Amino acid sequence: MLSNRQLFQQHLAQTSEFPLMTEVEKAEGIYLYTPEGKRIIDLISGIGVSNIGHRHPKVVAAIKAQVDKYLHVMVYGEFVESPQVKLAKALSDTLPAPLDNIFLVNSGSEAVEGALKLAKRFTGKPNLVSCFSSYHGSSHGALSVTGDEGFKQKFRPLLPGVRHITFGHIPDLNVIDEYTAAVIIETVQGEAGVKSAGREYFKALRQRCTEAGALLILDEIQCGFGRTGSFWAFEQYDIVPDIVVAAKGMGGGMPIGAFMSSKKVMHVLTDNPVLGHITTFGGHPVSAAASLATLEVIQEQKLFAQAENKAMLFKKLLKHPFIREIRNNGLMMAVQFESFDILKPILDLCLERGVLSDWFLFNNSAMRIAPPLTIDTREIGEACDIILGAIKDA
Ligand code: PMP
Repeated sequence: MLSNRQLFQQHLAQTSEFPLMTEVEKAEGIYLYTPEGKRIIDLISGIGVSNIGHRHPKVVAAIKAQVDKYLHVMVYGEFVESPQVKLAKALSDTLPAPLDNIFLVNSGSEAVEGALKLAKRFTGKPNLVSCFSSYHGSSHGALSVTGDEGFKQKFRPLLPGVRHITFGHIPDLNVIDEYTAAVIIETVQGEAGVKSAGREYFKALRQRCTEAGALLILDEIQCGFGRTGSFWAFEQYDIVPDIVVAAKGMGGGMPIGAFMSSKKVMHVLTDNPVLGHITTFGGHPVSAAASLATLEVIQEQKLFAQAENKAMLFKKLLKHPFIREIRNNGLMMAVQFESFDILKPILDLCLERGVLSDWFLFNNSAMRIAPPLTIDTREIGEACDIILGAIKDA
């Protein structure tokens, strides 16, 4: 009989050049456990997903309660389903006016697809603007606005009319013109290796979009849901976008995403004769119930409020000549090393010693640190000890 590792290699389609090859048996809080009983500190939260920790008891309870009622009953948007409508209301309450209309989908990529289609439909304009080094997803539309040529080149032709600008560079905003349907931008760039652009840039971006009649879509799929020190990262820049997209941390470990806008913008999606976006499983009731519980945990415990202080502790402890720089916005952090060749053996040794981290899609010499927001001071100390020991020994 083949072992699970052998089955993984023989039958599971692979996406990674360097799969971790560690089997997970259980996960709880900030920890993962292997069948051999090894305990691993999860410093990356399934890439920005387990913001409130693995299997948070309130999320597990919400899932169980919903499973006892119904699973899928009808394509999205036909029946009135309590988990969906309660979640839509709770999400609306986190957003500034006039953003109060929520389209629930299955993933980040699907949320981006929906947002791009909505912007084209609302404005009637053909073009899109996004940033170099951005990551917006793997489906064709989301890939088209992703800003990494290497990631895209084998899949052309992609969407026409997409132009890329440099994140944080105000003069580039002139590219946004009367033919631009939307600008899509990560409020904090994730896969570029955690890059922030600051308030002045986002203010100028907002103004340019308004002048040109383009919608501003903020991709908060990685930086939203408490990751950066506020519930949404854009709250730090004092701007109101036209559309927000979310996923990842939104489901507390369950698959769900959303594109969110005003009723005025969103209603064009259902204008006859052409429907705008259809999704069978979007806002699955079990995922929606989990998401509502997740949102409540983050809000009640104000988990985002401690993110910056916890990041400061990481920064204080992680001092070593090999570490060139640590960038962060809340608990979305990148520890910059000189090269992948230096970082990779450190990561391998960390995992061996019980700390999980990785690198970024478009920056493979930076270590990703994005633990559950619930991580405490002692656990941060333990994780940093292991990282420093691995740097020394690798
Ligand atoms: N946008 C950003 C900023 C992301 O980080 C990701 C996922 N890494 C996506 C979009 C795509 O999300 P998904 O993998 O759920 O399709």
